[in-house]
Amino acid sequence: MRLIDTHTHLDFPDFDADRDEVLARSHTLGVQRMVVLGVYQANWQRLWQLVEEDEGLYAAFGLHPVYLEDHHPQHLLELRDWLGKLAGHHKLCAVGEFGLDYYLEHLDRQRQQALFEAQLQLAAEFELPVLLHVRRAHAATIATLKRFRLARGGIIHAFAGSYEEAREYIKLGFRLGLGGAATWPQANRLRKVVAQLPLEAIVLETDSPDMAPAMHPNQRNSPEYLAEICAELAALRGVTAEELATASSRNADELFGWA
Ligand SMILES: [Zn+2]
Repeated sequence: MRLIDTHTHLDFPDFDADRDEVLARSHTLGVQRMVVLGVYQANWQRLWQLVEEDEGLYAAFGLHPVYLEDHHPQHLLELRDWLGKLAGHHKLCAVGEFGLDYYLEHLDRQRQQALFEAQLQLAAEFELPVLLHVRRAHAATIATLKRFRLARGGIIHAFAGSYEEAREYIKLGFRLGLGGAATWPQANRLRKVVAQLPLEAIVLETDSPDMAPAMHPNQRNSPEYLAEICAELAALRGVTAEELATASSRNADELFGWA
């Protein structure tokens, strides 16, 4: 089985003690490629260093809305420098993680929107896909994406919206990132949506170290669990794990331009 983890934070300190072992075990379990996403300016250098050290790792750089208070206008210029410096490098695969978070009410929405649009602009300029964090903000995100119409689309990470919202994203050229959340039996509404989504729209992710799946509750999440997540989501859809692995990996390959 060949798997791609489209969303990880493997640079986080949670993995400092055993990162090499986690990567080795993940590769053994079929996780061929993993995307590591930058969330603020202070982690970009470290993230790039990590990605350069392991053949299976790919980088995205972005300014995450949850860390709004850490971002300064200068960081957008630095983000542009990073994307410019690495343009065309096969290890640079997207702009992300960025987006809109309306769940955390202390995050200023106007500032979030400005930061969101500035990064969409960068993705358009450098012809890269976008990896988006969207919490309780699907209407605003869809309206904004309709104005930008990015040629390469992207991924709505940890998608937990409705079937109708999924259809809007698909029409805009986006894929839906699915992972641990839908493995929980109590996530009824999400599980129904996952069962209905077109196979062409699905990519898999763990969001490691966050969003532990039901089979590893209260643990550090890891790409090592992606095969189990895949099996659970495949069962929801009535297909084999192999079929979902093949389709979701093909979808990720297409999105990132991996032959
Ligand atoms: Zn993330």
